[in-house]
Amino acid sequence: MYIVVINCGSSSIKADVLDHYSGKYAGRMSIERIGESNPVMYVDGNQEPLKNAATHEEALEVALPRLLDCLPEDVQVAGVGHRVVHGGSQFQRPVRIDDEVEQAIADLSDLAPLHNPINLAGIRAARRIIPDVCHVAVFDTAFHATLPTRARSYALPQDLSDKLDLRRYGFHGISHAFVAQRAADYLGADLRDLRLITCHLGNGASVCAVEYGRSIETSMGLTPLEGLVMGTRSGDVDPGILIHLLRDGEFDVDSLDDLLNQQSGLAGLSGVTNDMRDIIERAGEGDDRCRLAIQVFSHRLRKYVGAYAAVMGGVDAIVFTAGIGENSALIRHRVAQRLEFLGAHLNEEANRAAELDDESPVARISTATSRTHLLAVETDESYAIAEDVSQLVLEKDRLAGHRPIPVAVSARHVHLRQETVEVLFGEGYQLTPRNDLSQPGQYAAEETVRVIGPNDEFSSVRILGPTRNIDQVEISRTDEFALGIDAPVRGSGDIANTPGIILEGPQGRVELQQGVICAWRHIHMTPDDAKHFGVSDRDVVEVAVSGGDRDLVFGDVLIRVSPDFQLEMHIDTDEGNAANLGADAKGTLISTPGQARLQRRKTTFDPVEAAAE
Ligand code: AMP
Repeated sequence: MYIVVINCGSSSIKADVLDHYSGKYAGRMSIERIGESNPVMYVDGNQEPLKNAATHEEALEVALPRLLDCLPEDVQVAGVGHRVVHGGSQFQRPVRIDDEVEQAIADLSDLAPLHNPINLAGIRAARRIIPDVCHVAVFDTAFHATLPTRARSYALPQDLSDKLDLRRYGFHGISHAFVAQRAADYLGADLRDLRLITCHLGNGASVCAVEYGRSIETSMGLTPLEGLVMGTRSGDVDPGILIHLLRDGEFDVDSLDDLLNQQSGLAGLSGVTNDMRDIIERAGEGDDRCRLAIQVFSHRLRKYVGAYAAVMGGVDAIVFTAGIGENSALIRHRVAQRLEFLGAHLNEEANRAAELDDESPVARISTATSRTHLLAVETDESYAIAEDVSQLVLEKDRLAGHRPIPVAVSARHVHLRQETVEVLFGEGYQLTPRNDLSQPGQYAAEETVRVIGPNDEFSSVRILGPTRNIDQVEISRTDEFALGIDAPVRGSGDIANTPGIILEGPQGRVELQQGVICAWRHIHMTPDDAKHFGVSDRDVVEVAVSGGDRDLVFGDVLIRVSPDFQLEMHIDTDEGNAANLGADAKGTLISTPGQARLQRRKTTFDPVEAAAE
């Protein structure tokens, strides 16, 4: 399926036509210097004249038909994808564009005044020029919709933050998600088993902690100004500086905006250029300001890498991508210095030799014995967008006629090992089934335990049987605050790096070292059900629930497949209350993940071979 992908920047447009499955390009066009007196257009690498390009819409009116004319005859365009920088809180996944969506993107312009209006201009022009296919907006913020509240909140008065939507959104999500998946494919691992730090180092730069496939921290915030040192953007500065400059009277809002967005970063530090290649060259010739620019850039990133490893309690791979990350051995070397404490050892030879292209888009630059992999990974945002568009084009047919899914609300409960049961209830004690649960063989036991947190405790927490090979305590977010504990959202059984808690029974106490989770909402299903819904074990989907008086769409729902399961969605009490669900609640699967993404590239990394190197 061929998709047109349109990416409108401040003075440039890129439009690619590519196959959603292989990522192979059928045509490429770019326009530079829009709004200036001498705009230029390149079609498939050849420069062509372009007279009327005062605005993005004018430029596309000429250039898009030209690109379509150049396509081979057998290439039929099935959809158009638009990169949109800011999706606010509203857009947490790609969306088909209609007039309402167009308006919503326009309404978000306050949050991204430099980007969204331009993205919208591209959308309007392309919908006019290619009217008969599905147009999809893919948001740079969407991947970061999973940032936990603690990571996305600024320590400002809550009322003000609520009123003005002041929160961290994060950007470059299309790239972070894509290179994370590419790294996992290369390592032959499931992304949902990995803790990654992805460093997108281009003219704009950001870093992201991808924990088990979900963005849980990222360096950009409300706007793409926060975080790393960038080409012309300052990244993190003490907000006191802004107050100082405004109070001093030398700057007003517009000049401050210009200072931080256009005159800072590498350009400000070096005093000459925002281009890392030139900075590296001048630093080599002895330019002190360029040397400082490199030092501040690398130091800031290394600081974030350490912080994100701490946030995730470890890291399996650190990924470098975009112009600087893919091409600069020197910057990768500087950032990777002193990361040995994380088990990350750079292979200097491999780092220097790394050359990425479409044939080999990933290079491992860590030593064979490095516990944490260091990878240079080529990003391809157009490919990522094309995949998302193809999903929405295909999804409509695939989801038609799906069965409703029963929804059950789970109260807080514990699963125990037999050894733990015996400490709490006495030697040789066996749990007594009280009533069967929907999943075959599972039951709620007569027995309950007291769960004791640092802040408060719950008596009579039900034990679910039969006993298992790990102890696990499942609580809701509200319970967390009452107990005073910080439980991560996890799938059942995935308890590494989770907090512990004290359990008390009639005969004894157990201090668990780990095992408290806030259960990841999930759907149990059989392999036949999975076939019916077009999903696989551990996919993540969206489900609309009804049956209460507060209908709700739950994103981020985990699929669990086993022949021993029965079709049922499980949510916790907070989630059930949010939808006010009754006993006969039902859910409808409204989106599935991309089959193409799941089947795509297979691994090229062989750990056995690597160890033998
Ligand atoms: P991007 O925004 O991803 O196109 O990245 C642009 C940045 O990548 C610019 O700062 C370039 O100087 C930088 N870049 C590209 N190639 C190299 C290279 N070989 N060494 C250092 N920086 C590079």
